[in-house]
Amino acid sequence: MPIALIVHGGAGDITDPDVEPHRRGVEMAARTGWDILLKGGSALDAVEAAIVAMEDDPAFDAGTGSYLNREGIIEMDASMMDGLELAAGAIAAVQHVKNPIRLARRVLESEHTFLIAQGAEQFAQEMGIPLIENTELSTPAAVARWKQARDHPRAAPTSGHVSVQGGTVGCVAVDQNGHVAGGTSTGGMSFKRAGRIGDSPLIGCGVYADDLLGGASATGWGESITRVVLSKYAVDALTNDTNPKDAARLAIEYLGHRVGGIGGIILASRSGQVGFAHNTPRMARAYITALMPDLVAAC
Ligand code: ASP
Repeated sequence: MPIALIVHGGAGDITDPDVEPHRRGVEMAARTGWDILLKGGSALDAVEAAIVAMEDDPAFDAGTGSYLNREGIIEMDASMMDGLELAAGAIAAVQHVKNPIRLARRVLESEHTFLIAQGAEQFAQEMGIPLIENTELSTPAAVARWKQARDHPRAAPTSGHVSVQGGTVGCVAVDQNGHVAGGTSTGGMSFKRAGRIGDSPLIGCGVYADDLLGGASATGWGESITRVVLSKYAVDALTNDTNPKDAARLAIEYLGHRVGGIGGIILASRSGQVGFAHNTPRMARAYITALMPDLVAAC
């Protein structure tokens, strides 16, 4: 089976100085995941490793470097899906976990599909994942962004008047056994209300994977992505071996017309092809398949 891997580092108004750190970060993450696939590793392991690399990279709004909410606290959401038997795991509103995607993976392997807040953190401890101080996850850039938002509040987002800053991370991989996996991790929208949860940890919205079709990870304005269940929509569009580039474009067009949504999506098909689309000014992404001479990374 042809292996393939695609990652994103968020879609949105990524500023000029942030372009190169985002491009470098997605490139490194994709190489990390790809090495695992090349050695015969599983799609789930490749997705987890690629996302951990981006969670640990302060350029992204996930793990270390996550945006702060209105209260000045980081609350993170993550999800993972295994296309073999449609196993899914998600966590939301966690404040003390360095790598939320690792916790989502543990949930996927458990009897549950979704744990939130203190319950998720208690489960983390039971799984041997240490809890850390919330402040250990914040960076000077995220704090400066929070102060700017606090001192210059903008109107709440409404259709057509929302901007997203990018930085959420995601990955979809297909391994040598033809298994598909996907994952997404985020600190959520900048200056979000405490307790607000977007699309990223919602199965079918921020992530989906099905070995019979392929997998997807979404990014962008979560309230719009959720309403069209974007990742499931995009994976369903792979029916009849539609090229993932076309399926991604269809999904983003639907997001745009149906709910005035903005965002981006990455897709990999069960046959090892990849595609992406976005209706935001930029989206950081990197991808490689068995049929490509080398990895492509851009923002
Ligand atoms: N979709 C994420 C959320 O709404 C944010 C993003 O992808 O930039 O929380």
